[in-house]
Amino acid sequence: MDTLTHALSGAALFSRTGLLGGKKGAIPTKNRMLSVFDWTTGSAFFFGLFPDIISIGPHFVYSLLFDNSMGFQAVPDFVFTIYKYTHSLLIASALILLVSLFNRTFALTMLAWPFHIVTDMFTHAPGPFGTRVFYPISDFAFPGSDWWKNGYLTTLPILIMIVVWIFILWYRIAKSPFSDDQNLISER
Ligand SMILES: [Zn+2]
Repeated sequence: MDTLTHALSGAALFSRTGLLGGKKGAIPTKNRMLSVFDWTTGSAFFFGLFPDIISIGPHFVYSLLFDNSMGFQAVPDFVFTIYKYTHSLLIASALILLVSLFNRTFALTMLAWPFHIVTDMFTHAPGPFGTRVFYPISDFAFPGSDWWKNGYLTTLPILIMIVVWIFILWYRIAKSPFSDDQNLISER
């Protein structure tokens, strides 16, 4: 799946602004913005991006700056190796379990990472960018099909996520502690 859809879906599910916040959402503060988005939103967004930006990101930015290309030609082997590690459910589960011993909420936001892997399983065919869920124990790549070769999968997920986020923001802002002040102001 495309990286932005990963980030938006991770934050929609595993941040307090999204589903993880239940009916309450972020912990209310005196700051209007922080009462809708707290650190969990940024954390889940980051862990949604993480498997792709850590592996392909530096090479992609380097290619864009110095080779003036999109960087999908001549990808160095180490990029694929990092990609295998960041797309392994074994690695993600082990690290999340470890973090959960110290900070449960942070570990919950990290679940955007395995969710990224699960969506990639179905939207990447076996190949250099196949999803090797049991790496490094096994090199087996899940038999999905490449999203960038399917017109619907290049546009539909991102459109769905934009609609989902419009709904989340509407719901959170309407339920925010500041919405009552707003009503009072408009009644006067
Ligand atoms: Zn990925």
